[in-house]
This record gives sequence, C-alpha cells and structure tokens, in this order.
Amino acid sequence: NSVPTLTQNDGHTIPQLGFGVFKVDPDETTRIVSDALEVGYRHIDTAAIYGNEAGVGTALAESTIAREDLFITTKLWNDRQGTQSAFDAFDESLEKLGLDYVDLYLIHWPAPANGRYVESWKALEKIRESGRARSIGVSNFLVPHLEALITDTEIVPAVNQIELHPAHQQLEVTRFARERGINIEAWGPLGQGKYPLFDEQVVADAAEAHGKSPAQVVIRWHLQTGNILFPKSNRRERMAENFDVFDFELTHTQVAMISALERAGRVSAHPNDVN
Ligand code: NAD
Repeated sequence: NSVPTLTQNDGHTIPQLGFGVFKVDPDETTRIVSDALEVGYRHIDTAAIYGNEAGVGTALAESTIAREDLFITTKLWNDRQGTQSAFDAFDESLEKLGLDYVDLYLIHWPAPANGRYVESWKALEKIRESGRARSIGVSNFLVPHLEALITDTEIVPAVNQIELHPAHQQLEVTRFARERGINIEAWGPLGQGKYPLFDEQVVADAAEAHGKSPAQVVIRWHLQTGNILFPKSNRRERMAENFDVFDFELTHTQVAMISALERAGRVSAHPNDVN
C-alpha cells in the first residue's frame, strides 16, 4: 500500500503520486505542504511562477523527513528562458526552496514564439551536469517541440508534464514521448474541477463498485495507465483521500471505459499560445 515509483530514462526514480501546489496561496503554502507531508506525500510539484517556493522550502526545512526520501520539482518560467537567465532563475529557485539540489527541473512552457526553448534546454543540460538537478524535463511540449530538442541537444527529457485527464489524453504526444522513454506527468489530473468528470457514469459506477470516491477512481486510472500525477487540494481530508488509492485496482474494462471519455477536451491554454 505504498506509492509506486517509476524509473526515468536517466536511471533516477520518481514517486508516481505526488502533491501539486499550483494556486496554493504563498501565505498558506507552508501549512498545506506540511499537511501533505504528514499525510504521506513525498513528491512535491511547484514552479517559480507559483510564487510559493519559499513556503515549500519552509515546510521541507521544518519536516524531519530525510532529503533522499523527498522528490522536489520546480520549473523555469518563460521570461527567464535563455542561458544565463536560466542559470540565474535556477539559482533563485534553489535558494527559495532552501535546497542544494532539486530532483527535477522543468522548462515550464515551450513558448515557441520566443524561440528560446532549445537554448534553455542546453542550459538545463549544464544544470544537470552540475548535479544540482538530478533530472531535467519539459512541460507543455508538443511533438514538434520534443523533436526539436531531440534533434539539436544531447539529453532526452526525463518527463513531459502536460494537461492530461480522461477528456483530454493527448494521445499523440503521449505515444511519441513514451516511445522515447520520456515519462508522462499529468497536470490537471482531475480536470481542475472545470468539467463534471466525477459525474461521468463510468466513473461513478466504478467508484460505487469499489466503495471509493470518484476522485480516487480517476487517480487510479492515471496510475494504471502509467501517468505520474500530483493532484492538488488545500484541504487535508482531500489530500488524504487522494493518497488513499493503494487498496484497490480498477479492472481492465473500467480503465478502458474511462479512457473512452477522450474528446480532445482541453480545459486550459494551448501550449503554442502561452508566452
Ligand atoms: P487538479 O486536476 O489537481 O484539480 C485540483 C482541484 O480539484 C482542487 O482545487 C479541488 O477543487 C479539486 N479536488 C482535489 N481533490 C479532490 C477530491 N478528492 N474531490 C473533489 N475535488 C477535488 O488541478 P491542478 O491543481 O491544476 O493540477 C495539479 C498540479 O499540476 C498543480 O498543482 C501543479 O503542480 C501542476 N500543474 C502544472 C501546470 C503546468 O503548466 N506545468 C499547469 C497546471 C497544473
């Protein structure tokens, strides 16, 4: 009944279930991350743009959990893409987190209109060489963006973190990534509450069949389809609910029926439109 780990293409492991802090108020972040650590989460996903890395850092500093048992991700924001600007942004993130390394550092968006994501990736390669990011990856990359990195740079990203939930499974980029050993991290795994995912009959029926909640069913669907995810909640009861998913398994039919909810239903921005 513990969190499974996946192996990255660089040999490091990553806990498949974590806790995300997008839209967590900086003033509340320490309390919320401390609650998440107490509930049992060891993988925390933050970003410079969330403005709450310092709050995450305080929670980590206050906890007695050994550093090697934690998995911490942060991300380079779009306006810091480049070479020196990326090095500086990374230093600032480490400082705010109070860490001497992160487990995973991501380019947050490709921002293709700015034309700097390949250059930024080369900066991340240097950061990985320095040992201060154990793994490096990308976020919101579509197939052409991944192709550009693979053609022009040395390291294949460890992960691609993309919007992914039953109505929007990004099958093309997901297949492309997995064929190249790139793990998929699903952001907005519960659809960010933006469509009635929990009311879908197949989700509700599976929840009833297993005596679990619809959110737990959707989290199992992610785990059983190989995604890494870090659902977010400010509420401790829901943090615990979202973590209590290792005492049941969906059947192949239940997984397939939830996968059949695909309808290209993106609920957030298109990667080419975020700069
Ligand atoms: P999510 O799908 O995890 O939805 C979060 C919302 O779902 C909560 O605010 C809450 O209202 C609801 N919820 C959570 N648990 C619930 C439960 N058990 N029952 C009912 N409702 C519940 O969306 P998210 O927070 O946007 O995504 C998760 C994480 O992904 C973020 O915190 C962040 O770390 C990451 N993320 C990354 C990007 C990116 O561009 N890379 C973008 C968005 C999010």
